[in-house]
Amino acid sequence: MAKQGMAIICSACGADTFVRREPIYEGFRKTGESISCVSCGHTFADEADVPFKDNAGPKIFTDADRSKAVDIFESDEKGRNCRHCRHYTVNPFVQRCGLHQTEVQATDLCGDFDPKGEDDGDDDPLAKLLKKGE
Ligand SMILES: [Zn+2]
Repeated sequence: MAKQGMAIICSACGADTFVRREPIYEGFRKTGESISCVSCGHTFADEADVPFKDNAGPKIFTDADRSKAVDIFESDEKGRNCRHCRHYTVNPFVQRCGLHQTEVQATDLCGDFDPKGEDDGDDDPLAKLLKKGE
């Protein structure tokens, strides 16, 4: 299983469960990570406060694994921008999310992100628009 190091015994609800990690944003800048219990939703203030099950046993999560995990996370995050989403539409006046019927920015992140089909992989509507405006 890929989610090594995610297993916890929650200190809030006592469940043998997992943590959910979500990036925290201030504007478009990632300022941190929220770590919460998937069972009760309790948010842990700090990584050091998370009651990982792994802490009790031999350390299987090395520093090398950790940086690899971060890389994967960041590239995934980059791919989740609205501009790469199938619901994203753009015209000269507004960028919209077709799913939520709201105005969005190309760099927005969305929980309902749905990647565009491979066919339009190189078809970046925003880039096209910017080119047109030159
Ligand atoms: Zn809990």
